[in-house]
Amino acid sequence: STTNTPILEARNVSKSFGKFKALQNVSTSFMPGTLTAIIGPNGAGKSTFFNVLSGAFPPTSGQILFNGKDITGMQQHEFARIGISKSFQITNVFKQLTVHENVRVAAQMETARYNFLRNAQSYPGPIEVADQLLRRVNLEHLRNKKTGDLAHGQQRALEIAMALACNPSLLLLDEPTAGMSPEETLVMMELIRTLASERTVILVEHKMKLIMGLCKRIIVLHHGEFLAEGTPEEIQNNAEVRRVYLGQ
Ligand code: ADP
Ligand code: MG
Repeated sequence: STTNTPILEARNVSKSFGKFKALQNVSTSFMPGTLTAIIGPNGAGKSTFFNVLSGAFPPTSGQILFNGKDITGMQQHEFARIGISKSFQITNVFKQLTVHENVRVAAQMETARYNFLRNAQSYPGPIEVADQLLRRVNLEHLRNKKTGDLAHGQQRALEIAMALACNPSLLLLDEPTAGMSPEETLVMMELIRTLASERTVILVEHKMKLIMGLCKRIIVLHHGEFLAEGTPEEIQNNAEVRRVYLGQ
């Protein structure tokens, strides 16, 4: 039945760069409405897995299914159109534009309009959508600031606002707290908690402690392979996981 269909499934996904196997036969799935963290040491293949899951590039072998439909090989804009959105990277944000202008650019994209209409909501227009998104990530008070003048944590929140512009049912966040101060990290964690109450979220994070209180399910990658999955408690008590993280 549909209630048992994962929103996203990876089947035997591998990805090689030349001879180097960055991902090897990873199989896992994500149920609708869940918040899952993917952890693993640096170089474990987390970002590679994420790029495959978000359509940035296809796997070398294996399949990606979205709501039971095989979407392997589709382009990233098609992933966005069906409702899979990965957070923008700050390198894709226009630093000379204001905060509101940046979100407006994202809200003007064809995919944004399409997804609002598909969900039978009237498309309120890019200005209104940008207003909504800035309220969503608590940046409305900075709407007229030049993006380049924002604090790091605020820039990362802006990336998320832009990723939300296409109204995704599945949001992928790759290390959203990277480079953040402890205070910024707490604010971001709260935002992720809120976003996860509205849609499926998959989070890549290499700081294990950080996601322990946030997620019910954690997947561990190591050397491009699926090492373990479980609740935070199971993962913390997993001998292999502890060995991999020793010294971190
Ligand atoms: P993580 O996000 O877990 O730190 P990555 O997925 O970024 O790990 O990288 C996994 C491995 O794949 C690393 O050894 C990295 O050097 C390699 N890798 C990632 N992207 C590329 C690429 N475009 N070309 C060659 N090697 C890559
Ligand atoms: Mg990474």
